[in-house]
Amino acid sequence: MKECLSNKDKEIHCCTTYQIMNKIVHILAKYSYEKLMKIAIFPGSFDPITIGHIDLIERTIPLFDKVIISIGQNSQKKYLFTLKQRQKWLNKIAAKHKTVEVDTYKGLTVNFAKKKKAKYLIRGLRNASDFDYEKTISQLNNIIGEGLETIFFIAQPGYSHISSTIVREIIKGKGDVSSFVPDLIYKDIKSKYYK
Ligand code: ADP
Repeated sequence: MKECLSNKDKEIHCCTTYQIMNKIVHILAKYSYEKLMKIAIFPGSFDPITIGHIDLIERTIPLFDKVIISIGQNSQKKYLFTLKQRQKWLNKIAAKHKTVEVDTYKGLTVNFAKKKKAKYLIRGLRNASDFDYEKTISQLNNIIGEGLETIFFIAQPGYSHISSTIVREIIKGKGDVSSFVPDLIYKDIKSKYYK
C-alpha cells in the first residue's frame, strides 16, 4: 500500500499525522494546565466594595492563576446596592487585572467553588470575631467541599477598621466615605446617593 503512495501523497499523509499529533499534544497540555491551574474564589457581598477588599484582591493575584470575585446572593439579606450595581463596580476593578474575574452565585459557596474548579477560597480576617466565625465555616467547607482550602489574609493595619457595614452606615447618614472606597465607586455613590 505504502509502495503505491506517490511522494505527494506521502507528504500529505505525514502532514496530516503531524497535525493530528500536534492537536493531541495541544489538548493534553491544555487539559493538564487546567487541572494544575490554581483557581481561587473570593466570596462576599461587596455591598459596597471597599479598599479593604481591593487590598485583599491585589494580595491574592500573585498567588493564583485565576481569582474569581464571587458575589454571593442571599435571599434573606437586604443589600444597599443592587446586584447589578455591585457587579458593575467589581467588573471595573477586575478589568485592571488579567487573572481576575467576577461572577455571582446562589446557594452554597462550596458548590460554586466546585463548579468553577476552584480549590481555594479567600477570606479576610480583621479581628478575633472574624476569626471565630470564619474558623468554623472553613472547617465545614473543607469537609463538604471535598478538601476546599480556605486561605486567610490578615487585614493590613491601615485597613482593619474598614467594613462594608460601616461604609453603608456612613452612606445612609450622608457622611464622607471617600477614604474607604475606591475613587470610581466614591464618584458614583456621590452622584447617585448624595442628592
Ligand atoms: P461577607 O458578607 O461574606 O462577609 P463582605 O463583602 O463583607 O462579605 O466581605 C468579604 C470578605 O472580605 C470577608 O472575608 C471579609 O472578612 C473580607 N474583608 C472585608 N473588609 C476587609 C478589610 N478591610 N480587610 C481585610 N478583609 C476584609
